[in-house]
Parts: sequence; C-alpha cells; structure tokens
Amino acid sequence: MAHLYVDGEWREPVAKGQRDIRCPADGTLVATVAEGTRPDTEAAIAAARRAFDEGPWPRTPERERGALLLRTADLMERDAKEFARAESLDTGKRLVESEYDIADVVACFRHYGGIAGTDAGRVIDTGRDDAVSRVVYEPVGVCGLITPWNYPLLQASWKVAPALLAGNTIILKPSELTPSTSVLLMKALQEAGLPAGAANLVLGTGPEVGAPLSEHPDVDLVSFTGGLETGKRIMASAAATVKKVALELGGKNPNVVFADADFEAAVDFALTAVFLHSGQVCSAGARLIVEDALHDRFVDEVVRRARLIRLGGPFDPDTETGALISAQHLSKVEAYVAAGIAEGAVLRCGGTRPDDPALANGHYYPPTVLDACTQDMSVVHEESFGPVLTVERFTDEDDAVRIANDTDYGLAGAVWTQDAGRAQRVARRLRHGTVWINDYHPYVPQAEWGGFGHSGVGRELGRSGLDEYREPKHIWQNIQPRPQRWFSG
Ligand code: NAD
Repeated sequence: MAHLYVDGEWREPVAKGQRDIRCPADGTLVATVAEGTRPDTEAAIAAARRAFDEGPWPRTPERERGALLLRTADLMERDAKEFARAESLDTGKRLVESEYDIADVVACFRHYGGIAGTDAGRVIDTGRDDAVSRVVYEPVGVCGLITPWNYPLLQASWKVAPALLAGNTIILKPSELTPSTSVLLMKALQEAGLPAGAANLVLGTGPEVGAPLSEHPDVDLVSFTGGLETGKRIMASAAATVKKVALELGGKNPNVVFADADFEAAVDFALTAVFLHSGQVCSAGARLIVEDALHDRFVDEVVRRARLIRLGGPFDPDTETGALISAQHLSKVEAYVAAGIAEGAVLRCGGTRPDDPALANGHYYPPTVLDACTQDMSVVHEESFGPVLTVERFTDEDDAVRIANDTDYGLAGAVWTQDAGRAQRVARRLRHGTVWINDYHPYVPQAEWGGFGHSGVGRELGRSGLDEYREPKHIWQNIQPRPQRWFSG
C-alpha cells in the first residue's frame, strides 16, 4: 500500500503499517491507508532537506511557484467532488460543508498564487552614494506541517500553500484520523509539476510522525494546528534545535449579545456559531454571553431551535449536523457536560446520546445548552470541542468585556448590537484575534488568522500567513569599498 509520498514517489511504509479509516457517522470502513513510523518520517525529512539544499524549488522564481499553486487550485477544482466526498467520509461532516471547505481550499491556493511576485522586499535609503541596502525574503527551509482532523484539507492548505510559495520544502503530517484528502492534495501537486522532494506526505500518529518533525535538527520550522497540550509539547521539543514555531491552538470563543441586538439574526447565528460541524471548530462560539434583560427570551429561543437540529450522516440531505470524530472524543464531550452539571450548570437541552437506532453506529451527541454557567466551570474555560453551548449573563458593557476576555485563549469572538459605536468599542476591547460584529464565522482568505494568549503563535492567511514561512534578510552592499583608516598606521 503506497500512501506515503516521499521524494516524488509513492512509497510503502518501512514497517508495513496500516490503519483502517472508519466513517464517524456509521462506522463503515472508508479506506485502509498506509501508516508510517519514525524511519518513514526521517526519510521524508532527508528528501525535503536535499530538495531544499540542492533542488530547484527554492531557486524557482516566486511567480513560477505561484503559477504552480494556481494550477493546483485548478486541479482541485476539477476534482472537487472527489475531494468533498473523501472529506465527508473521513470526518462525517455534511457533504455540503465539505463542498464549501474545498471551495475555500481552492480560494486559499488562488490567494497565495495571486500574490506571488508582488512583494520584492524593500530598498533602504542609506543616505550615501557608495552603498546600497535592501531587504529581501528567503524561505525558512524545511518545514514540518502538522494538522488536525476537523477541517483536514483546509488546515493543510493554510500551511502548504504559503510554505511552498515562499520556496520552502515541506513534510505534511495530517491527523491519522483523516488522511484521505491530504493524499489527494499530494496527487494534485504532483500533477501540477512540483519537483521531487519539495512536498512530502507521511501518514501516521503524533508520536511516530509528528514528534520527529518537531525534534529533528534538519527541520527548520514546525507549524502545528491542534490542541493546546500537543502545541505546548511541540514548542518545548522545538526549542532544542531552535526551530521556528507556528501554533494554532484553538479557542474558547465568546459570542456577546446585547439586548438591542437583532433578535432573529442573533439567535440564528448563536446556533451556527456553536453547532456548526457539531462544535468541532476552533472558532466555535461556545460561550454565549447575553445581557441580563434579554437572557430569558433569548435562551428560550436558542433552546427551542437547538432541539430541532437534525443529526445524521454526511450524505443525507436532511442532516443539519453530523457525528463527532471518534468514540474517544464523544466521551470527552460527555465528561465536560457532566462536570458542568455537577458544578451547578442547568441543562436546558441535549446532554444525552440520541436513542434513534439510525444513529446507533455513529458517534453522535445532540446540541446541548447549559445555562447559569460561571467562569470557574471547566466546561466554560476549557475547550470541549463539541456541540455544547454555555450561557453566562452580563449587566453592562464593562461586564460583558470582562467576561468575554476571561479566558486563557483568544482566538475569535463576536458582538451583537445595533449600536454602531458600541459594536466598534467592544470589538476593539475583545482580546481575540478575529472579532465579528453582528455575524459569526465568515471566512476571508485575505485576512490574518491567529490569536492572543494560548490560542497560538503566529498568523495564517493574509500576507502575514506568508511571513510565517519566509525570513526577511537585509543585504547591504558597499559599492565603493575603500580603506576606512579607523586606526593609524
Ligand atoms: P491534537 O493536538 O490531538 O492533534 C493535532 C495533530 O497533532 C494530529 O495530526 C496529531 O497526530 C498530531 N500530534 C499528536 N501528538 C503529537 C506530538 N506529540 N507531536 C507532534 N504532533 C502530534 O488535536 P486534534 O484533536 O486533532 O484537533 C483538535 C484541536 O485542534 C482542538 O483543540 C482545536 O481547537 C484545535 N484546532 C485549532 C485551530 C486553530 O486555527 N487555532 C483549528 C483547528 C483545530
């Protein structure tokens, strides 16, 4: 079985490992894929190192690298149906959501392809006629890219596209639970003409494939999206070889609703904010923070509508949200809800596995609302990463901002009000990397994505997404060298 892409060829893993991928919606076998171990990872690192030190990719003009990304985007668009189906089978998410994701993937590659060659650095005025000085950008080197299971191809694309555009060589390690679309991405890059060794793919677990990427001296940068604890481990092990580190580590995102908000819209987005993809979204609006005067009416309506959300498989057109990724994750979400209730939260809906026999083979958990929550509850300040909404209440603007910022994370959040001045004021005061006003979750490939606090280090997307993968280098040239005569003699 040849699912590892190393040095421009599809290889079998050294230890001949395999993994069954099962659809979270019903447990059916989706694929059996090759599973690599440390020797495969080391071979991929060696290939990427050679390709960086000796291969053509880092020396290819940036415009040509961008053209390859644009060709890759076209190929993925051509095969969008196959990509979307594979993504839904691995993740259990609705097909229509996978189709949106693939469109976003294509947009991401087009964004980076489109900005190729538009930033040649800058020339610095030296004030002298015997010297010139400029800042140019160089690729960082060999990049290890480690991604999670919730948006498998989108998360990979946010790293692969800028890393390749900047002239790096890469080793991609997707989540072992959702490898299929990364295999398809490598095939698209291969078909687009990427030179051997510039992009490598190793499937496998964190300890066998991810850890070596953060430890190996031949890797210059490790970019990781995933959980906080894994991120801390990666940062610590990258320190030994002083790697550059980029981390996207999730959030505990506030959705702040003032009493003057547009009621229908705010309720509707409060549901989307937290229940989209069953809450398995790093920017999920999992903390509803609602003004006292609006609380009862608002929460009643959220609960009424949450109860109506239909769970189901990815290809059922009636499905509104899908299963959780694994049995282990389902148990974790359940434990957070149980802890919240034990600590005094009031369960308003959900909270027990569905008893519908049609869902019996999937990892389903219903939309759940916990009212009367307080910041000391683990379900409020830790990521459950499931369809669980906690409700807190506030009295005034200062109180709302205090509660919304009372988190170690700082990824995203929203504020709902019809007072334009208050909207801008609160948006500025929220210590979160993205703030939506009267909206939730819009995707903008040109805007930076990253967070404050424990949400991570560095930025993806926009122009600064590219900056993660390139080093500004100052080049000074004395164009009239002469003896300086600092010293006599
Ligand atoms: P995870 O940390 O368990 O795994 C993420 C990746 O890291 C996987 O590929 C995994 O195999 C790998 N990994 C595990 N142990 C490793 C190790 N010791 N060294 C190197 N790699 C290792 O996270 P997950 O459960 O796959 O994803 C869910 C988490 O991801 C959530 O916490 C979520 O908030 C976060 N996330 C963040 C963003 C963001 O943009 N900030 C986006 C999506 C997901």
